[in-house]
Amino acid sequence: MNELQKPVNHIAGIGPSRARDLALLGIYTVSDLISYYPFRYDDRTVQSGHMLQHDSRQTVEAVVEAPPTVRHKGRLVIVSARVRTTDGLPLTAIWFNQLFVREKLLPGTQVTLTGKFDARQRSLVVSQYELAHADQSVHSNRLVPIYEVRGELTPKILRSLLARALKQYGPLLDDPLPYSLMTKYKLLSRQEATLQIHFPKDAESLRQARRRLIFEEFFLFQLKLQSFRHLHKTNQPGVAHPVDDRLWSDYEKRLPFALTEGQTQVMQEILQDMRQPHPMNRLLQGDVGSGKTVVAFCAMYAAVRAGFQAAMMVPTEILAEQHYESAVRLFAGSEVKVGLLTGSTRDKERKELLDKLAAGDIDLVIGTHAILEEGVQFANLSLVVTDEQHRFGVEQRSIFRQKGHHPDVLFMSATPIPRTLAMTLFGDLDVSVLEQMPEGRQPIQTYWVAARQEEQVIRFLRQELAKGRQAYIVAPLVEESEKIQGVENAVELYKRLLDPLAGFQVGLMHGRLSGREKDEVMRRFKANELQVLVSTTVIEVGVNVPNATVMVIYNADRFGLAQLHQLRGRVGRGEHASRCILVADPLTDAGKQRMQAMVETQNGFILAEKDLELRGPGEFFGIRQSGMPEFKLGDLVNDANIMKVAREEAQRLTEQSDFWILPEYQGLVDYLKQERVLQAPIPD
Ligand code: ADP
Ligand code: MG
Repeated sequence: MNELQKPVNHIAGIGPSRARDLALLGIYTVSDLISYYPFRYDDRTVQSGHMLQHDSRQTVEAVVEAPPTVRHKGRLVIVSARVRTTDGLPLTAIWFNQLFVREKLLPGTQVTLTGKFDARQRSLVVSQYELAHADQSVHSNRLVPIYEVRGELTPKILRSLLARALKQYGPLLDDPLPYSLMTKYKLLSRQEATLQIHFPKDAESLRQARRRLIFEEFFLFQLKLQSFRHLHKTNQPGVAHPVDDRLWSDYEKRLPFALTEGQTQVMQEILQDMRQPHPMNRLLQGDVGSGKTVVAFCAMYAAVRAGFQAAMMVPTEILAEQHYESAVRLFAGSEVKVGLLTGSTRDKERKELLDKLAAGDIDLVIGTHAILEEGVQFANLSLVVTDEQHRFGVEQRSIFRQKGHHPDVLFMSATPIPRTLAMTLFGDLDVSVLEQMPEGRQPIQTYWVAARQEEQVIRFLRQELAKGRQAYIVAPLVEESEKIQGVENAVELYKRLLDPLAGFQVGLMHGRLSGREKDEVMRRFKANELQVLVSTTVIEVGVNVPNATVMVIYNADRFGLAQLHQLRGRVGRGEHASRCILVADPLTDAGKQRMQAMVETQNGFILAEKDLELRGPGEFFGIRQSGMPEFKLGDLVNDANIMKVAREEAQRLTEQSDFWILPEYQGLVDYLKQERVLQAPIPD
């Protein structure tokens, strides 16, 4: 057995109770302990007496000159001792409420003291001290590591345990990184880096240690993703669609517009994947309205023309119906037979539909998760498109497997993800991006107004409505956990606006309505029976009403940029000029910056970067549950450059066909086996 995988109690000084406390920190093995990194460092480098700085934290080495004295001052117990630093400066060392130090400070004792220095009093209020006979090298006169602790553990105990563990096991640490990478990027060995991250020689060594360990962390992560992707591409059975050259022009003939260069480019990437005998795993990213759906329909058309079936899965019934209607229109008069399957498809229709799907009489089905249900069988499914769904998970893919298909999968996402995060989140996918918007799109003018300007907003709204346009009004949803309050906000806002908007039909939409009620409200808004829709953020996803030209968002500063951008994308979908009005009185600078960013740019990717910068990755993803990996040392924002390099190197390596057999990469191959990427049944 690997020595490093032994339980921690193999380290001298760790008995059952220490082991229990360590377990609270998730430390079970020697290796766990060694990779339990400090969360900060305390600079306790010894200063010479005459270099001491007034009123700051300093460390000195000194000898106790006289027995300490004890004073009481109210509740305070003050121990003071006369000491002299090694270079001859006399000082008074003071401890508050630590009576027990008195016994330890016999005259002649050598101590290292850290504390706040007062030049006028020639005193040091001690916060840390070490007696000379202790294992000084790790606790004092250096950058001292501070660890998070639990139970009876203290940072000092942990420090001693780590010093011991590193001495005993440090030399056994293998380096998984190939030598070529270490020299190319001038990386410390793993042994050296591990030692330096716990007990750094100086600030520069610490920096180098972190750089090396973060690189390793990111590189191994990327290697796993890239190997996965590579294996998937080369080993999994899939459908090789024959795609003929006429497909493209036949499809374009059906459209009332010409495809953009970006759409053509992306379509080529997708078709190229579809020709391969291995499953496609591609993400199509593009801002709201950039024309992803049009591309997805073309891919589905390709599958159907090749004699297969295609399915499109969307998160809501409203969206499913919307896409279904577009598809029916688009493929009218062609050989493509389209079906719709959602949770509210009636029994009789449903049965008919399922029979047709199983018999291959329906070529293209659009629906919600209902498509995944047990009773749904396909004759020969070869392409699945998912819209606006963040993670079409492994389970879902294996459901299709169980039904006997190995479809190509195309993920579509309008959530702009900053590049650095996309590399991490989607490292196992191929990515196509639609960057430009179709031409003739009217820019959406965005305004930021204060709450007290509401009257002007209403006046403007009435003008637009009088011209025949429609509007969305979004009430704040404070937090996911405060859904109820969000509903109340919407209801209240709705009631409050009825009067100022008299003469127009106003509808109300929120998450507490049943699916059928929501659909009814949406249908009426689409049909222009309602001119105004007051809503919570439930309208966020994919809704398309080209005649709606105004989006008013109350308390806009409560929303993240990504979400504001999604909401704004509901307008600007037709021929008329559209406007987005943010009503907000942000209290924080970050809030003001977010509003400003919305006013200044319409580019979702720029906004996403900004959001990430202002709120950090935790928050950024908080609003959309997602499987963000956690790293021990690396930070996806601050260490983005390292991630980029790690990814490039991992990609280069996995594409090198003999990588698996070269001795230099043995460490990596072992790692991949251990992570079950290699030699396991090919992962889904
Ligand atoms: P997305 O799915 O990315 O939100 P859609 O595919 O739904 O975007 O397209 C948004 C709107 O733009 C639709 O009304 C669509 O018909 C239109 N559209 C798409 N591509 C083009 C194009 N090349 N030229 C003009 N209009 C387009
Ligand atoms: Mg769409």
